[in-house]
Amino acid sequence: MQSIISVTNLHKQYNNYHAVKGISFEVYQGEIFGLLGSNGAGKTTTLEIIETLRTKTSGTVLVDGLDVDNAADEIKKIIGVQLQAAGYYPNLNLSELLHLFAGLYNHQIDTHAILKSVNLHDRAKAKYKELSGGQKQRFSIATTLINKPKIIFLDEPTTGLDPQARRSLWDLIRDLRKQSVTVVLTTHYMDEAESLCDRVAIMEGGNIIALDTPQALIDQLLASGFDPRREVKKANLEDVFLKIAGHSIDAV
Ligand code: ATP
Repeated sequence: MQSIISVTNLHKQYNNYHAVKGISFEVYQGEIFGLLGSNGAGKTTTLEIIETLRTKTSGTVLVDGLDVDNAADEIKKIIGVQLQAAGYYPNLNLSELLHLFAGLYNHQIDTHAILKSVNLHDRAKAKYKELSGGQKQRFSIATTLINKPKIIFLDEPTTGLDPQARRSLWDLIRDLRKQSVTVVLTTHYMDEAESLCDRVAIMEGGNIIALDTPQALIDQLLASGFDPRREVKKANLEDVFLKIAGHSIDAV
């Protein structure tokens, strides 16, 4: 397994507040890596330091062998980061927005191919504000693909989406992995992390308290004698919803 992100003894101090307390981890090339943890655990801080958007207090961060301390510009060329929705000019359509971003990156792009890769090719002439929540998220992933990145970073990509839209986004993220893109994401949905992530790191209070495959973490819990204290049924309400609210994935 080849490492594409290597974080060693990373610290971040905001004035008197120690937000990240000396964490170390590797992300492997081509995996979907999840960063989990309660609000305030330090996930966004860690991601933004790797993305070269925030400075660190100490430690070493290498991205594809490049050091954030002296190669931020080169790192930016090989990563894709989701933009905040506020950056999407309301009166431009999706195709025009992609062209605009491509211009910022100084890249030639095939907008149809990019929109097709996120299943939005038939909405090329739609404005961002006319999209559903799921389509907006897919479009924001499209914007991360403009520079053909090796790694993309997704901060809570499915928050607020309905169950079908979430699954559609999971499929999209798995497709990216098939194309050898490494995906680093944060999520508060444990079912999402379990289904989607090859490995997860759980952060708490600025430390990594667990790091493994979801299955290995579950097995460790069961081996410790965990008793769920509830009856486990073979289906849940989400399964009911997915079965009866069966509108087409294209519509989400
Ligand atoms: P969430 O799940 O809520 O997004 P998170 O795990 O991403 O949380 P961070 O956003 O990294 O957490 O924040 C970690 C801690 O650092 C929090 O206590 C937060 O208040 C603090 N923090 C974040 N940014 C700053 C800042 N610019 N100045 C001061 N403190 C900050």
